[in-house]
Amino acid sequence: MTARILDGKAIAEKVREDIAQKAAQLIAQGTTPCLAVILVGSDPASAVYVRNKVAACEKAGFRSLKFEYAADVAPEVVFGKIAELNADASVHGILVQLPLPPQFDADKVLEAVSAEKDVDGFHAENFGMLLQGRESFYPCTPWGVMKMLEVSGVEVQGKDAVVIGRSNIVGKPMAVMLLTAGATVTVCHSKTKDLAGHVKRADIVVAAIGKPRFVTADMIKPGAVVIDVGVNRLPDGKLCGDVDFAGASEVASLITPVPGGVGPMTITMLLGNTLLSAQRAAARG
Ligand code: NAP
Repeated sequence: MTARILDGKAIAEKVREDIAQKAAQLIAQGTTPCLAVILVGSDPASAVYVRNKVAACEKAGFRSLKFEYAADVAPEVVFGKIAELNADASVHGILVQLPLPPQFDADKVLEAVSAEKDVDGFHAENFGMLLQGRESFYPCTPWGVMKMLEVSGVEVQGKDAVVIGRSNIVGKPMAVMLLTAGATVTVCHSKTKDLAGHVKRADIVVAAIGKPRFVTADMIKPGAVVIDVGVNRLPDGKLCGDVDFAGASEVASLITPVPGGVGPMTITMLLGNTLLSAQRAAARG
């Protein structure tokens, strides 16, 4: 079998067009969606992520604000800015780019962002709502995976799904979303015994590990849907995922590439959350 490739770039493009259209309607009614991004320090990867997020906002017709601080900034300064943005009715989303320098407690920073403006979906209140199957801001990467499955017509209900990875930003919310959608979910991690055996039984595999080509063709059930969240930089500078794409493509029915798979969906869902927040603010009046 040769797998169909799930083109995240193309799906993201379509979803972003829809978001831009809805944003235009909202703007015509007097509300311009606005995302504020806070960047601390000079990590080059973080700078690229922030630049891409700001550019995506502008392309969708949103307003964006960027606040940059030196790596040695006092935490109170950043907490002060978050409080100011929380109180600013023209700001609908607040994003603090991670990782933060060591003087910060990242959990405390994420909790300082108002849950109503937590467009990353990292606030404990939003995570609790997700667990209860209630409407909230969903974390962008797993939500992007769900959107890809939906757009590609993958039936989730009744399927056996395996998520490899249990981080708060990808693995855990991914497992909850698949569970809510009706899958029977197994979560594997570094302490899992017989990881290959679990993966082999899965109709849907989501890899979010951070280890290049960790998932190999022999672990995959023929015809499975394979979603690769991993982004790893190889010594030659190229990017690769957590799945051995060449081998897995011969066994899976559907597979995401890296780059060009899940990655483009993450920023797209950030735009989706910011639009949603602006729509909610407009409805509140
Ligand atoms: P993370 O916080 O480092 O979590 C990695 C998870 O993988 C942990 O739960 C860990 O298990 C598990 N793991 C590590 N080694 C393992 C092994 N040998 N066997 C089984 N499980 C193992 O990473 P993350 O933030 O979730 O990100 C995962 C990957 O996704 C990274 O490559 C990251 O760059 C990528 N990512 C991509 C996007 C995107 O937009 N495409 C967004 C976010 C993240 P333990 O919990 O037991 O340690």
